[in-house]
Amino acid sequence: MRIDLLSIFPDFFTTPLNEGIVRRAILAGILDIGIHNIREHATGPHRTTDDRPYGGGEGMVMKAEPLAACLAAVPRVGERRRVILMSPRGLPFSQGRAQDYATNCDQLILLCGRYEGVDERFTARFVDEACSIGDYVLSGGELAALVVVDAVCRLLPGALGCADSAEKDSFSRSLLKHHQYTRPPLFAGMTVPGVLLSGDHAAVERHRFLESVRLTLERRPDLLAGLSLSQAERKLLHR
Ligand code: SAM
Repeated sequence: MRIDLLSIFPDFFTTPLNEGIVRRAILAGILDIGIHNIREHATGPHRTTDDRPYGGGEGMVMKAEPLAACLAAVPRVGERRRVILMSPRGLPFSQGRAQDYATNCDQLILLCGRYEGVDERFTARFVDEACSIGDYVLSGGELAALVVVDAVCRLLPGALGCADSAEKDSFSRSLLKHHQYTRPPLFAGMTVPGVLLSGDHAAVERHRFLESVRLTLERRPDLLAGLSLSQAERKLLHR
């Protein structure tokens, strides 16, 4: 998959894309990233990318022409391309949307807004969808775009060391993940649940599943509406 990031602060991406799973995926050729400086596509002596809003009011608005020129310079990769505006007014980002992008797109183009946002005529003409990472307002779309890059990257085949760990992540089955423990067996006077040391794989699976359900019920009961249980899991719940 290819992901292109359009921003007036392209340096923002340097370190985050050079660490951990994203870096590994890039080096392995699983993920290709393009970073584009919108300012390089602005005209005039000051290469201005923003202007005052028509109708007056607070702040500045990103101009449509540099955005359109920057987008036009992005190389086209594959048939299935989506242009996404990072915006608090967008549809909420979720594991389901990350999976949709990872499965159904060859190329994502993530446009990072700044100031008060983007001239609506650019959005109307060029943007396929707007994407919000949560009900709060950031100063710019760069952090939001990095969230999308990271979440999508984990779902690309081969990106994770352990093949099935994305399938067992929180949200993948409308459940939160169970608690995790590692060595030492005693820390700050606390032990590890005995079943995890028992070597009984079926009992461990059962324990983890029930804990996932309990945690989800306690912290995110809204998720459970999307859960469909196998017959074996139903039995476990009713034991
Ligand atoms: N005035 C806008 C509003 O009230 O909807 C907020 C603009 S915000 C200061 C500047 C940019 O940050 C936005 O254009 C968008 O690209 C990005 N941004 C802010 N919050 C975001 C969020 N929750 N999700 C995705 N992008 C966000």
